[in-house]
Amino acid sequence: MLNLILFGPPGAGKGTQADFLIEKFKLIHLSTGDLLRSQIAEGTKLGLEAKKFMDRGDLVPDEVVIGMIESKLASNKDANGFIFDGFPRTVAQAKALDELLNKNGTPVSGMLSLEVEKEELVNRLLNRGKISGRSDDQDVSIIENRIQVYHEKTSPLKDYYAAQNKQFSINGMGSIEEIAGRLSETVSAL
Ligand code: AMP
Repeated sequence: MLNLILFGPPGAGKGTQADFLIEKFKLIHLSTGDLLRSQIAEGTKLGLEAKKFMDRGDLVPDEVVIGMIESKLASNKDANGFIFDGFPRTVAQAKALDELLNKNGTPVSGMLSLEVEKEELVNRLLNRGKISGRSDDQDVSIIENRIQVYHEKTSPLKDYYAAQNKQFSINGMGSIEEIAGRLSETVSAL
């Protein structure tokens, strides 16, 4: 079982590269951002609550996203493995994920951290905002807040996984194919 965490700041290319990795390694894609956006589209209570945080570029409370991941793991028991995209984003989420996966005897295989310069992140997000219509990708101050939240709450997870010898930094600059090649090489060696 291959359990990969695709890590990096907003705009690092996690979603794009997840598409490539799920195809190549036959994994199930679990993106908490996508799951939350579908709750919003369905107009559920969870979605309405989460939207308040997302509109500001703040993190949704840990228990909400942990609950979503827990139910997805439970409903995909026969999976070859998972690719976690945009999760975990806090130490509390990382600890909860370890507990859930260790309970099943299928721990995290590796954390792949896409490294991209800040200027490039902002450009990529603004471009994506034009195509996708995502409101949190269209406002520079919300983008800046998301990048700051990443540095404050999420990037410490690199140390968390490094302490387990599971952290791999990947150069996330260059073409989609070049970055996919780097990821593939690292995953194949796990
Ligand atoms: P993303 O699609 O990963 O860029 O996420 C969009 C927004 O959804 C984030 O700015 C957060 O508000 C929320 N979100 C997604 N994943 C998480 C998570 N693991 N923990 C908390 N909030 C999240």
